Order: sequence, then structure tokens, then C-alpha cells
Amino acid sequence: MSVEYDVVIAGGGMVGASLALCLHQHSGGALKVAVVESFPLPPLSEQGPSYRPSFDARSTALSYGSRQIYQALGLWSTLQHHVADILSIQVSDRGHFGSVLMRHEELGWPVLGHVIENAWLGNVLLNHLRRHTNVEFLSPASVESVQLTEAAAELTIQRQQALQTCRASLLVVADGAESGLCARLGIHRRVDEYAQTAVIANIATELSHQGVAYERFTAEGPLAMLPLLPDEQGQSRSALVWTFPEDDAEQAMAWSDEEFLSRLQSQFGHRLGRLQKVGQRAAFPLRLSFAEEQVRRQVVVMGNAAHSLHPVAGQGFNLALRDADALARRLAEAARSGVAVGDLAVLQGYLRSQNTDQQLTTLFSDRLTKLFSNRQPVLSLARNMGLLMLDASPPLKSRFTARAAGVFKGRDLELPL
Ligand SMILES: Cc1cc2nc3c(=O)[nH]c(=O)nc-3n(C[C@H](O)[C@H](O)[C@H](O)COP(=O)(O)OP(=O)(O)OC[C@H]3O[C@@H](n4cnc5c(N)ncnc54)[C@H](O)[C@@H]3O)c2cc1C
Repeated sequence: MSVEYDVVIAGGGMVGASLALCLHQHSGGALKVAVVESFPLPPLSEQGPSYRPSFDARSTALSYGSRQIYQALGLWSTLQHHVADILSIQVSDRGHFGSVLMRHEELGWPVLGHVIENAWLGNVLLNHLRRHTNVEFLSPASVESVQLTEAAAELTIQRQQALQTCRASLLVVADGAESGLCARLGIHRRVDEYAQTAVIANIATELSHQGVAYERFTAEGPLAMLPLLPDEQGQSRSALVWTFPEDDAEQAMAWSDEEFLSRLQSQFGHRLGRLQKVGQRAAFPLRLSFAEEQVRRQVVVMGNAAHSLHPVAGQGFNLALRDADALARRLAEAARSGVAVGDLAVLQGYLRSQNTDQQLTTLFSDRLTKLFSNRQPVLSLARNMGLLMLDASPPLKSRFTARAAGVFKGRDLELPL
């Protein structure tokens, strides 16, 4: 006999796991939710994180807005032990005059944001899901086929080499940027190739970062150094995201540690003293992609499967978390009023509520990426004038910082390009 759920989430990555927690919280556990994740779950543990898809060696800059969402879920008291605070952001252009420093005091916020290692975020989210909610976690398992009927999504799930069927009022597709389920459902994607690859690694530094996040624009492409908590030996560390034209990234991955550090030092300068050690490197090809259809009756597409952004502005996950929170609130409200959670009008209402945020955040990330990846002299001058103007104008700076922190609700910034 087939099992019945209100919501099945395909993909238990950062977005799928966060959505499951939001659904549990906002419905008070009334919605029957399952998460299907193809990667095996690690044992329940508070000892330390383990790497797996989504919760890999990267770190994520969580905006102040995301902190508020995790606070409402009752998770912040645990997460705060694993985050480094961002107290200011310094944006600069290598070899040029413009630079800008944004401080938390200017907005009257306690912090501008936080940085967490993805593996720790995964540890906290998955432990909380398994210990404190009634969400079912099916893993390793994958959704093999979907049949949409009048009343439900009928799913075939592969688990332990066996096929089982289930019915869900709503299927959430959160299986990442290469979404196999979107392809299976005939949901097309608009893709804009940046022809860039992000190389990430943790860097041990001589000086402490003092809560400063650095965004620096270099001849190769944008480079970010985000503050991390010190390691167990008290060594100060920052998380590097260094963007290269895709043909150069392979070389950068092959450089010896010494060469990598020396090239990074010459691009980044001595703001953090000598760069002492580089951890394990990983490369991520970058593209802007957008699902052309995010909702259908009984289906909603979320996270990277819905929109995948350039990481330069640190917006992708923060946007997806705001989507997850908004969707969970709407579904809980529908369920309380006796409306099916897969109802098209409910899902369209969710999408309408998030549409402006999605458009503005995508535009902000895309324009910032293009503006700061371009070495044409005119654009370089415009960029540096822009940085100077931003630094000289407190209201403009506040709006820029608020948009970067994902809590800006008013008229948005106009970036050139
Ligand atoms: C270098 C880099 C740095 C970034 N930094 C930031 C940042 O600072 N701030 C920010 O906001 N964003 C950042 N992002 C963006 C952020 O990483 C993404 O928004 C986030 O990873 C999206 O998560 P997701 O759960 O949608 O997808 P994924 O992380 O891809 O997870 C998808 C999950 O689905 C599972 N899966 C796949 N197929 C199936 C299937 N058929 N059945 C079941 N399960 C399946 C996978 O195993 C995986 O666990 C960064 C991105 C990059 C590349």
C-alpha cells in the first residue's frame, strides 16, 4: 500500500533540510513531511561535521535576515556556536583607488551577517530534524518517477535497491542546480554561462580578521575572504572564494600550496598579514540559471533547482531560505484553512509573494558579477567612481548594505550595466 504525505521534499541539501524545518515549525508538526535524499545520512552526532553534497567544504555567508529565520525556528542558539560574525565588509578593486567599508554600526545592527562552514550547518540542521521533528528522512533514496494526477503527485522512490510508491499532496523539487527531476518533469531552465569557476579553500592567516569580510576585484575575477572561527589550535582563518575564468581554474587547482598562497597574497595584499596555509581546494563552475516554471499544481521548485546565482554577493542560499520560510508559512496557513497544500492558487500566491525578491536579488548578484568581472577601462573607472560615491553617501551605503544583507524591502539600488 502506498504511503501518504502532505509534502515530499526531493533533496535534503541546505535548502531541502531548511524547508523541512520551516514546515514543521510553522504547521506545529501538523503537516506530514518526508525528505528524500540520495546521499546516505551520517550517524546522529554532535561531535563534528562530515562532508557530503551540499554540506561540503564551502562556507556560507548567512545574512542577518537568515539569522532571523533560524532564530524563529529555535536553531540559532545552536548555530551561533559555529558562526563567525561579519562586523564590516571591505570592498576594493586591486590596483585602483576606489574602496568602501560598510560597518554594522552604520545600520544599527549588532552584526552584518555570519559565516558558517557548510558541514557544520548540515550537522545542526540534520541533527535537529532527526531529534526534534516528526519529519521522515528517507536516505539513501531517490525519487525515480513522478505522475501528477488531479489530487496528488504519485511518486516512485528507490530505496535499498527496492522501489516503493507514495502519494504526496505536494512534491518539492530541491535536488540542486543539475535538477534531474526538473528535466523529468519537462521544466526548462534559462542558463547564462559566466564562463567562470570558483575555487574555494580555507586560508590560515597571520593576523586575525577582526570580523571583516573582504570583497576584492582582481584581474582574474572577484575574490572574497570571509571571516571564520579560529581552528582548534586557535589559528585565525578566512574562507576564500576566488573566481577564475574557467580555463584558468584548472591551473589554479594544480598549483602547489606555496604557489597558490604566493599568488593569492599578491592579489589580496597584506590586510591579514602573511597568508600561512591553504586547506583542501575545491572548484565550482558558475552559471546563472533559472527554472522557467517554479510552480505547477502539486509541484514547487526550490533552491538551486529554482535559481542558481553567482556566489560573489553571497545571496543564493539566503534567497532560497527566504523562499523556504515564505512557502512553509503559506502551506501551513492553507492546511489550517482546509485547503490542499498542492493547490495551484496557494503555490501561485507563494510565488507572487517571492517574485520581487527573487528578481531583485538575481539582478543584484548578476550586475555586481558583471560589473566587477569586467576589465574594460571605462567600466573600471565607473566601478571605482561608484565605490567612491558609495563610500561618500551614507543613505546609498545603507541601502547597498541592506540589500547585500538580504533585508532590504524598499526601492532597490540601481547598479550600472
Ligand atoms: C563557491 C560557492 C559559494 C557560495 N557561497 C554562498 C554564500 O556565501 N551565501 C549564500 O547565500 N549562498 C552561497 N552559495 C550558494 C549556495 O551554496 C546554494 O544556494 C545552495 O547550495 C543551494 O542548496 P540546494 O539545497 O538548493 O542544492 P544542493 O546543495 O545542490 O543540494 C541538493 C541535494 O539534493 C540531493 N539530490 C540530488 N538529486 C537527488 C535525487 N534524485 N533524489 C534525492 N536527492 C537528490 C543531493 O544529494 C543534495 O544533497 C555559494 C555557492 C557556491 C558555488
